[in-house]
Amino acid sequence: MRQLAGRIGCRAFSSLTKAMAELPAHKTCISGKYPGSDVERLTVPEDKVSWSVPWEEYDPKDYTSEKLKTADYADPEISDPKFQPQWNANDGPLDRRSHMGNYEIADKMPRNPCGRTGIRGRGRLGRWGVNHAADPIVTRWKTDKHGNMCYNSHDDNPVAQVVLIQRSSGDWAFPGGMVDPGESFEETAEREFCEETLDGTGFLHLGPSSKDYEENKKLIEKYMKKGVEVYRGYVDDPRNTDNAWMETVAITFHDPNGNTFSKLKLVAGSDAKAVGWKDVSKDMSLYANHKDILHRVAKRLQAHW
Ligand code: BGC
Repeated sequence: MRQLAGRIGCRAFSSLTKAMAELPAHKTCISGKYPGSDVERLTVPEDKVSWSVPWEEYDPKDYTSEKLKTADYADPEISDPKFQPQWNANDGPLDRRSHMGNYEIADKMPRNPCGRTGIRGRGRLGRWGVNHAADPIVTRWKTDKHGNMCYNSHDDNPVAQVVLIQRSSGDWAFPGGMVDPGESFEETAEREFCEETLDGTGFLHLGPSSKDYEENKKLIEKYMKKGVEVYRGYVDDPRNTDNAWMETVAITFHDPNGNTFSKLKLVAGSDAKAVGWKDVSKDMSLYANHKDILHRVAKRLQAHW
């Protein structure tokens, strides 16, 4: 097998974390029905997305899912007098700071830093303002049955593979998830990877005496510490609203020789319908902005895209 470990030498990867400075335009959350509801967004023309473009008549519907009213992970209604959030700050164990800088508060509500979405309220998102997620991106090189690396015949670059899960919506996505109060982004990435791709618990279900348990445990503990951040910022997520939006920190882990993550037994867990290693290329169709983030990883690996 041709060794490519040298291609990904340094851990510092600052040029690719500049997402904080870029304000990505959003496209998946400016028209159509809000996911999981019959509520129609007011269509926002691309030239009216920015709050700085005047739009006097802008008066979108207000929608917050009924489920959020009783969900223990969710904020109370904004009108609840007991709800005194600390915007743009650490609010107890909750981080209400955005990766995009300080967001504005308009009519007592946080305002989406990337512009209008054609819907007010929280939709299905638990938090007013920023909802933090973290995404693990686990990659390896594709090999044939003899263990030789596979190259793309057009660009002659090696083909990478990435661990993806299928969400309940049917979309394929990184096995990421929401940051729990008090959790670091690295901890979320590791926990979510275990929950969604390793049968819910990572390895605990196998029992402490099983060989798989010991092997998975060692692999995860050792290699999940070696991640490299490739994106930090806003996500063009279909659930975003004018007052609640998704942001993520994406951390990539590469297995250059097939000795680490490749050895894990992948079993879909939590809310994932399926899990698998998928060939990385520009032809993939992924949830939200995951394809753009994966493109950064492919460039970093100098892999086929
Ligand atoms: C998903 C993450 C995704 C984030 C933003 C979360 O629900 O689990 O994979 O990056 O939403 O779309």
